Amino acid sequence: MYYNNNTQIYLDGTFVKANESVTDLYGQTLHYGYGVFEGIRAYATENDTRVFKAKEHYDRLKNSAELINIPFKYNVQELVDATYKLLEKNNLTNAYVRPLVFCDPNMSLARPNKVSIMICAWEWGAYLGDKQLRLTVSFYCRPHPRSIKIEAKVCGHYVNSILATNEAKDKGYDEALLLDSDGYLAEGPGANFFFEKNGVLYTPQLGNILPGITRATVLELAEKLRIEVKQGLYKPEVLVSADSAFYCGTAAEVIGIESIDEKKFRKEWKDSLGLKLQEAYSEFVRKSEKTLSKIHA
Ligand code: PMP
Repeated sequence: MYYNNNTQIYLDGTFVKANESVTDLYGQTLHYGYGVFEGIRAYATENDTRVFKAKEHYDRLKNSAELINIPFKYNVQELVDATYKLLEKNNLTNAYVRPLVFCDPNMSLARPNKVSIMICAWEWGAYLGDKQLRLTVSFYCRPHPRSIKIEAKVCGHYVNSILATNEAKDKGYDEALLLDSDGYLAEGPGANFFFEKNGVLYTPQLGNILPGITRATVLELAEKLRIEVKQGLYKPEVLVSADSAFYCGTAAEVIGIESIDEKKFRKEWKDSLGLKLQEAYSEFVRKSEKTLSKIHA
């Protein structure tokens, strides 16, 4: 599904065949989850392919690596260029792009000796589908910001996301909603959370969540659409009187939430602020850089 005999990946400055590339079984990333990654989407626009917010994603990759003491010796623009080349080599336009910075053999818990980067890409539909989601509040909470670097996209942090996702699916739900370690609304296993109440949108403030690039885009689009957004700390009880809610993330894009623990939101998705943002997002990501620079000129 992710690759075939002809698929190429980018590995430390060169392109190699995915099915011929190998990694060391003594790697620090494999054993301890000590690596960082990104999830990026590319879209076919009216006249080219756009890797959406590519620079922002690679800047976050660099920041994630540095936050956990993995030296990042790559140039962000070169990685952006490599991503476009990778898509071209694999004849991909609408695609999901996965860069991973990983550490080679080192069984100690000390800083890595050798660091590598790989980028792969494949066609991937909407991660959470296109139907409104039935969520459950997870038993698991997001890691305490003093136990990890919560703002970094670190491989090992995703065990928390996997546990919450599995728990939700085992209970018959589509997805989990996680609180932070103080019991405030935080985020999904792989997406940021917004809810609507009386014409205003609310979203958890930065600090105990991943600073999503889609979240930032939604905030920009909301401003353009003159939708008021408040960022703060919210207890899950506030959702009882909320009108609608949605998740947003690179893989999930903007996706409506129908209910949380069987409690349905008051508004239908078709009447929600989330739908307006879902439509605006879908249009925005498919605008070419050229069109955008003309709009901003
Ligand atoms: N929160 C978590 C835990 C995530 O894994 C993701 C996906 N990267 C997001 C939020 C959304 O981030 P982004 O919009 O940058 O994809």
